[in-house]
Amino acid sequence: MAANDREQMMNYDEAQAIEAQNMLAVYTKIRQPMVMVRGEGAYVWDSEGNRYLDLVSGGRAVTALGHCPGAVVQAIREQAGRLLHMSNDFYTEPQMELARLLAELCVCKRAFFCNSGAEANEAAIKLARKHARINYGADKIEIVTMLGSFHGRTMATLAATGQPKYHADFEPLVPGFKHVEFNNIAALAGAVNERTCAVMLEPVLGESGVYPASAEFMAACREECDRRGALLVLDEVQTGLGRTGKLFAYEHYGVRPDVITLAKALGSGMPIGAMLATDEAARAFAPGDHASSFGGGALAAAAALAGVRAIIAGGVVENARQVGAHLLEGLRRLAAKHRLITEVRGLGMMAAADLAQPVAAEVRAACLRRKVLIQAVGASMLRLIPALILTEKQADAGLAVLDEALGEAASA
Ligand code: PLP
Repeated sequence: MAANDREQMMNYDEAQAIEAQNMLAVYTKIRQPMVMVRGEGAYVWDSEGNRYLDLVSGGRAVTALGHCPGAVVQAIREQAGRLLHMSNDFYTEPQMELARLLAELCVCKRAFFCNSGAEANEAAIKLARKHARINYGADKIEIVTMLGSFHGRTMATLAATGQPKYHADFEPLVPGFKHVEFNNIAALAGAVNERTCAVMLEPVLGESGVYPASAEFMAACREECDRRGALLVLDEVQTGLGRTGKLFAYEHYGVRPDVITLAKALGSGMPIGAMLATDEAARAFAPGDHASSFGGGALAAAAALAGVRAIIAGGVVENARQVGAHLLEGLRRLAAKHRLITEVRGLGMMAAADLAQPVAAEVRAACLRRKVLIQAVGASMLRLIPALILTEKQADAGLAVLDEALGEAASA
């Protein structure tokens, strides 16, 4: 970046001043102290010209192919020059091709497209209620979800989210949601009954700190759903499309879901979500039951089509498995060296480290000073959710910085 380009760019102080004046304050506490202007692969640059190694896929596990993947950027450019938008009153080719491709890859063969993870989960919740109503009657409305889960910020997905801290101040919540302890089969069996229309879970609790479901628990979810005529809804908004080292996380379990929700990786940074349902579950929605003005729009669908093709074509999922295992091994070495780390967990390109002291923000800041982006979860946990294309060399560079940052935080 040339020096005179930088002079034109907004700096951190200017951005903060605008936020203070002109934005709702919902992000002020989580904002990192720079303005990001460019990305390429595993790296991003701020407006001061600093380069960062991004171990958080844009911050929220979205840029799974890294920043500005060539095939996706090209598809967006071509589509933008041809047709940006026509509503779902019309067919567009990218949406149809994307639906066909996802059906080739997933056991859930029918797609509804929307714009985010929360919207995909909203669609799944509505489908589960309608499926139960038409097959079993109007009383079958309950949805069992997990404590510690995260399903979104809209009113129904907030109620589905099993974390009371997100509920406070927004009651009354949408009724009909029950939360049970994750990986507790007895609690699940106690909560599922003839009024249950769905069990909904993340195969790996993501937002609350990378906790994979046990094989036994996932099998129990399937069995309870079969016994009660309920739908098994897997929220793969974060785990889907390679992040866990398989294309879909359900493949780790050999359990067949009725509904899968996707977002994040699906658009490589463009906003798009999808609810995928089996033929049987999908039949519950009749024309007009659900819709979206923007969902599956031509531009986002073209990006998603190119992105998913790149994920399945290029050994990307295999890389996520291999480099993810390498990263986890590295974190285990750091845990052996630093008493500050009490536990390390991971699956594919998802990893978390619990800390003995509430210094996660300090460790993150120490990494940031060394130009590496990691995530702090609450006060005492670190999370890494790098792009699936991260190399071992880049993982090692990140681990070396984390090593220094942990040392600095422990001695502060
Ligand atoms: N579900 C899961 C598992 C998530 O991790 C998230 C976001 O972090 C969501 C749903 C919500 O997605 P969005 O922010 O796109 O609405």
